Amino acid sequence: MTDTRYLVHGVFWDGVGAFPGTHASTAAHDAGNPVLRLQSPAGGFRQLSLQPHARLGFEVVHPGKSCLGHTVVHSSTRRDHILCAAGAPAVRGKQCERCFVLDESRLMHDFHRGGRVTPGLRDYLMQEHWLYVATFAGGTTKVGTASGPRKWNRLAEQGAAAASYVARARDGRVVRILEDLVTAQAGLTQQVRSAAKAEALLNPLPAAELAAVNTRAAAGARALLATAAVDGFDVVEEQWARPAHAGALHGAAPRHAYPHALDRGRHGFDVSSLSGANALARLDGTDAPFVVNLSQIAARTIVLGEYASAVPALQEALF
Ligand SMILES: [Zn+2]
Repeated sequence: MTDTRYLVHGVFWDGVGAFPGTHASTAAHDAGNPVLRLQSPAGGFRQLSLQPHARLGFEVVHPGKSCLGHTVVHSSTRRDHILCAAGAPAVRGKQCERCFVLDESRLMHDFHRGGRVTPGLRDYLMQEHWLYVATFAGGTTKVGTASGPRKWNRLAEQGAAAASYVARARDGRVVRILEDLVTAQAGLTQQVRSAAKAEALLNPLPAAELAAVNTRAAAGARALLATAAVDGFDVVEEQWARPAHAGALHGAAPRHAYPHALDRGRHGFDVSSLSGANALARLDGTDAPFVVNLSQIAARTIVLGEYASAVPALQEALF
């Protein structure tokens, strides 16, 4: 019998969100039900829980990245994930050239500029959307959009330290017009790289400072939107509730960069905190926590196993 080779799709927070005022510590897991999504050779999906204390053990068995397929949007509530027919190497991010071209979710970014969309994608885009301002552990702040049903989940997957909703828009076209406006006039970026988020989590700024940065940026965006000559939206003032599971990663306790490359080798650790796709990992034999950027194993092929990551030899010197 051979070990099953899984293709890693990434970290997903698809569960029910956290809400302001709920006391998360009373629940076994507080919100979002985060998982590492794996694709089996037969095409089925398996979800590995990344809830507090989950154990993750795997070996990266293939040196390159493979295509994750593409998305077809049928309506606001239904979309299909189509596996890569060729099982091709990933050359455009996590996709092969063919799947990149076929991916409908790519088209939604041009819809507000007059781009053509399929009827299913139009149905998806015509639902309510939210505009948010998110601040990350290093203080970088971005503007972004989320569809109504994924209002909370989108920010959980982004791994924000603090975030605020600034507008509720009639549809996905209006929200992207507002997003471009905030970028052009308030200077907020629309993209924060995954590596930058992981780097910032090695030395996160104090929570009060990040909250203040976010409050200021959100207030600036709202003031701008209040005078915008665009129909179909309301300015809103609402906080995003960060999952309690992300708390330790955004806390003040010292931590270290994960010492092993994730494109090869065997890895095993306990997940003690998770923010977006970044985990605070506890390695066997030490209490020192390490930041692991799990987005680095997306599109890689792994075999699951009871492995333990080696504690770096320089551990003494690190403290
Ligand atoms: Zn493909």
